[in-house]
Amino acid sequence: MITIENVSKSFPTKGVGASTALDGVSLQIQDREFFTLLGPSGCGKTTLLRIIAGFELPTAGTVRIEGADSSFLPPQKRPVNTVFQSYALFPHMTVAENVGFGLQMQKVPRAERDLRVAEVLRLVRLETMAARLPRQLSGGQQQRVALARALAPRPKVLLLDEPLSALDLKLRKEMQSELKRLQRETGITFVLVTHDQEEALAMSDHIAVMSAGRVLQIGEPREIYDNPKSRFVADFIGESNVLPGAMIGRGNDILIAVRPERIAVSAPASGSAGRIRGTVTAVTYLGLDTLYEIVIENGERLRSRTRQSVDGLVAGQAVVLDWSSDAERHLTN
Ligand code: ATP
Repeated sequence: MITIENVSKSFPTKGVGASTALDGVSLQIQDREFFTLLGPSGCGKTTLLRIIAGFELPTAGTVRIEGADSSFLPPQKRPVNTVFQSYALFPHMTVAENVGFGLQMQKVPRAERDLRVAEVLRLVRLETMAARLPRQLSGGQQQRVALARALAPRPKVLLLDEPLSALDLKLRKEMQSELKRLQRETGITFVLVTHDQEEALAMSDHIAVMSAGRVLQIGEPREIYDNPKSRFVADFIGESNVLPGAMIGRGNDILIAVRPERIAVSAPASGSAGRIRGTVTAVTYLGLDTLYEIVIENGERLRSRTRQSVDGLVAGQAVVLDWSSDAERHLTN
């Protein structure tokens, strides 16, 4: 559906030349998939989304939509619609008028417009609120109106820029499954921008992890979580313990990452030899899990997260740590 080839973008900045927002980004987004651009603030994800939408032009590289070079096509000529972080609803229009606005611009006849508005309002479960004004709705309901408005013209691709960031945690979780359902039911390709790794893991078919204007890794959520290729991805997606190591016999330095949930902690008295000895510095009860912070013999700090707390283990106590070899991932940097 969308192919990004070697796209770079720099913005002229007063006095200091130019700042590079994107640096040679390439990726492919398949038809009907839920694709997420994930990365910390300033990594360039919004810029890439705006380039796909046509609000921003690439400095170099090509954007193909359905195979055609669309790099310099104006936004309204692309089969793409955007849901912005601020819902930007028209305050003086009813829900139905807001949702029908794009169709009116496209000169869709009245009768068909009414049908389509009713259909998308049903889709976002707001059919009883068609006559209300935006200010008479909750934040979550306003977000649904913004979604319905973007879906009404039946775009092939829906771009979503941090669409849930204004919602509280509970509503955000609800809207995550709602968005996923909408994507499945409509068959529209969704491209989401977020800095929230949990949101990305929960909703996406594929995730592109970005840092400093580059794509570091693309994969299915499980693949990104289970096999991070770099220290950045291992740290940004979930949590990782990263230890320096060396390949025996080859001598080159490597980094080894182990997820906290793969590290077992036991008291030395348990008889386990373990891999490493350490001392517990903190025990935190997290409800389902217990988190142990441990300083190991070389002074590095590790975290272990376990379902069952180890009986009587408190800060200051000596422990042995163990993990199976298949829990180790070798990182490139
Ligand atoms: P956030 O999550 O904070 O929105 P982001 O990953 O979406 O971050 P972008 O908004 O794409 O990041 O910005 C990437 C870089 O490009 C940043 O360093 C930003 O300051 C710069 N940038 C973005 N837009 C402009 C602009 N119009 N003029 C100058 N610099 C810009």
